[in-house]
Amino acid sequence: MCIDYLHEEELWDREKLSALQADRLRQVVETAKNSRFYSEKFSNLDARDIRNVEDVRRLPFTSKDDLREYYPDGFLCRPLEEMVRMHASSGTTGSPTAIFYTRSDLNTWADLVARCMYMAGMRSWDVFQNLSGYGLFTGGLGIHYGAERLGALTIPAGAGNSKRQIKLLKDFQVSVMHIIPSYALHLSNVIRSSGLNSEDFNLRIALIGAEPHTEEIRQRIQEQYNISAYNSYGLSEMNGPGVGFECREQKGMHIWEDAYILEVLDPQTLVPVPEGELGELVLTSLTREAMPLIRYRTKDLTRIIPGKCECGREHTRIDRIQGRSDDMIILKGVNIYPLQVEKVLMGIPEVGQNYLIVLERQDYIDSMRVRVEIKDEYFVEDMRVLRGLEQKIAHSLKEEILITPQVELVEHNSIPNNQGKAERVMDNRLCR
Ligand code: AMP
Ligand code: ZN
Repeated sequence: MCIDYLHEEELWDREKLSALQADRLRQVVETAKNSRFYSEKFSNLDARDIRNVEDVRRLPFTSKDDLREYYPDGFLCRPLEEMVRMHASSGTTGSPTAIFYTRSDLNTWADLVARCMYMAGMRSWDVFQNLSGYGLFTGGLGIHYGAERLGALTIPAGAGNSKRQIKLLKDFQVSVMHIIPSYALHLSNVIRSSGLNSEDFNLRIALIGAEPHTEEIRQRIQEQYNISAYNSYGLSEMNGPGVGFECREQKGMHIWEDAYILEVLDPQTLVPVPEGELGELVLTSLTREAMPLIRYRTKDLTRIIPGKCECGREHTRIDRIQGRSDDMIILKGVNIYPLQVEKVLMGIPEVGQNYLIVLERQDYIDSMRVRVEIKDEYFVEDMRVLRGLEQKIAHSLKEEILITPQVELVEHNSIPNNQGKAERVMDNRLCR
């Protein structure tokens, strides 16, 4: 059976969409009052203030710090017994944000993802391999259930182990894969060095997301696999993947406006930027039951693409994510804050004052090197002692940020300390 995932709402005009958004926003305001966060912090929320969708601007913002402060369940609008799943934003074990889902949330989320996949040309007869990490990341189960909802044969391959990925892709003649762009480029190198080429596979589509990448990277993926690659955007706080996705036109990602209200604001003044200009994406979830978020500051920088898409959908398009308005690093799809690194380093007695995170890219693989100043008394000549210390630091960092960095010990006062704000991150990757 072929399930048609072209939803009626996808073809609605602006007027109809806006009316639905206003209705759903009123409902969200009512629901949000049931949470500890919104009832304590914004006790004057009133659904009667919402006459149209523009009135979203009268509502307060929600930030990641709020999610952390009210961790773990201060945003729940329904009793814990009604929750059937939780995820957490990636890479933030030190200061986590927990996201809960009711059964209905999982249902609407799977629908949204299935719609994205259908829009990009995937169909129920496709064989689909998900190369995202499963577990707390939403890119695993979120994409997985969307593909099953569409009706595709779904292979939950998970992340890493290139040899096994290639075997699965080949043996099951996979036609659509979901993959992080940097890993897609690496995997194609492995494929070529194994003596295989695109003719050995049946791939026709890649869904790529989770980290910023340029148009050039997309082109390269398309050429190397001889496929079409579509950008996929999402974040745990808004369910996960399935928030924005490219259609066959490949000219920006449609945000599903029946499920989200989007604003693009100047990150300093929080005033909307003119259409087409770069700003911070702010999202309000309209169909989440467990923990709807109002005006959530994503910190992702993008712009609204003006004009109507040739595919006919009126859902607003955003450009690829250009970067962040905060200092969050995205490395291999994992989110890392410099402060997490600092917290670990400052807990190690041998470590001095200064450190520098250096991000590099070689053969399409991103890596992190952490240059760490060591106190004079520990900077001994015995290499074994120093190697041991490097390993200890690398291990402690892995525990916190989920990625093993290369650690380089340097003498006290050898990292340039510009007057004023210390430079903590040097990003030498090309595509940012
Ligand atoms: P998480 O909440 O762990 O799923 O991480 C969500 C974050 O990953 C977003 O806020 C973005 O910064 C980043 N991200 C997700 N999808 C993309 C994409 N297609 N392009 C660039 N960055 C992305
Ligand atoms: Zn379109």
